[in-house]
Amino acid sequence: MIELTDLTKRYGKFTAVDGINLTIPRGELYGLLGPNGAGKTTTMRMIAGILRPTSGRVRISGIDLQDNPLVAKNKLGFIPDRPFVYDKLTGAEFLRFVAGLYGQGGPEIERRIDELLELFELGPWKDELTESYSHGMRQKLIISSALVHRPEVIVVDEPMVGLDPKSARLLKDLLREFVTRGGTVLMSTHTLEIAEGMCDRIAIVQGGRIAAAGTMDELRYQTSSGGASLEELFLKLTGGLSERELSDLFER
Ligand code: ATP
Repeated sequence: MIELTDLTKRYGKFTAVDGINLTIPRGELYGLLGPNGAGKTTTMRMIAGILRPTSGRVRISGIDLQDNPLVAKNKLGFIPDRPFVYDKLTGAEFLRFVAGLYGQGGPEIERRIDELLELFELGPWKDELTESYSHGMRQKLIISSALVHRPEVIVVDEPMVGLDPKSARLLKDLLREFVTRGGTVLMSTHTLEIAEGMCDRIAIVQGGRIAAAGTMDELRYQTSSGGASLEELFLKLTGGLSERELSDLFER
């Protein structure tokens, strides 16, 4: 479960995240949509404990992140949009290193590491330095590292970027299985079909605030757009370019 209470982040006078209130229960895959600069990554980084909120609270599985950061972070796996791995470690060493950060090691973790590397078809490269990995391989290693300590909550920023269709499908299936077993997922994406196809509920963020939230049906009702696609809802809420503006762009 993820609970955000009045979550706010300011950079000087600029407010990137403006008092977000959101509860995502166990067993739910929740999508965060919004235009560039809306505040999605900032929100996710605050949930992951990488960025300190200016004000407001984050609770992971009922544990307050500010009061109990280590316990809360132990329950969470974060998959950032840019895969950062240590070049001079092999894939297996990197996963062992991450497990160590969570205070885990030994034969059980070694089995888990092998299982994840096989799952993402990284087995043959597990003893190669990650500097030789492709972008997609790094992304798969990062996803594995977010799962290695068996989290209860996964926060994932733009997960499908750089993954081949087979790996993207694997990640979708994996996240679905994770929530079916009682996990909680918060996922940001710009790919509206992915959001529509995968998410139980969706929040559309605009200017650091939640402009609308709910199931697809609830969003249609809130915006009184019966039968509208997610793209139409999104553009209605966030302001797409009109046909007139488009044609003006090419007027001489
Ligand atoms: P995108 O879809 O482009 O990834 P986003 O919704 O993830 O966008 P954020 O990265 O959360 O957006 O950024 C929200 C706003 O906060 C942007 O206007 C950004 O310029 C600003 N911002 C982010 N980090 C900083 C920083 N360190 N200092 C100042 N402003 C920042």
